[in-house]
Amino acid sequence: MAVRATPGYECAMRAYVGVGTNLGSRWAWLALAARGLRATPGVALVRGSRVWDSAPLGPPQPRYLNAVLELETGLPPRALLSALKAVERLAGRRRDVRWGARTLDLDLLLLGDQIVVERGLTVPHRELGARRFALQPLAELCGERVVPGTGRSVSELLAAAPAWELREVGAYPV
Ligand code: ATP
Ligand code: CA
Ligand code: CA
Repeated sequence: MAVRATPGYECAMRAYVGVGTNLGSRWAWLALAARGLRATPGVALVRGSRVWDSAPLGPPQPRYLNAVLELETGLPPRALLSALKAVERLAGRRRDVRWGARTLDLDLLLLGDQIVVERGLTVPHRELGARRFALQPLAELCGERVVPGTGRSVSELLAAAPAWELREVGAYPV
């Protein structure tokens, strides 16, 4: 995936967004996520991880495709979350069953070195350390990065994470 220059950014930070999809045209939803974020003002898409096919979390449902997108952004956390939800809506995402099947799920995993604990937004994502399907693609992009609040790198968290059934299935579609 090509790096797009982002002139004029003050305090731009690297953000890492977990992408999950298990309904309909999963590869098309991955591509839509990249397109939607590229078109978002204040966000530059840097690159995507490899794509992983993984066992679902939660109630019985189809398998997921999981990946991580790396962004550069000067948007504050709330604005970035709103942008992620707007892209989910482009994919027709509906929120009904907790952890239920969905066309597109965009989770803000990391935002620079920031720690955010607010109603409706926790960064780093509160389940990151427990989720191999998020840590595996994240480690490909930034394994050395220390996860704020844990004192451990992404690779260290991955090594310690519970086992999960997943396999690599290709490059991120852009
Ligand atoms: P999980 O959060 O366990 O991965 P989920 O992705 O299925 O579950 P959603 O229904 O997509 O859950 O999101 C529920 C709420 O979580 C969102 O409305 C959002 O406000 C909140 N939230 C808190 N922290 C984050 C984050 N880091 N990234 C995305 N959403 C977050
Ligand atoms: Ca999620
Ligand atoms: Ca989510």
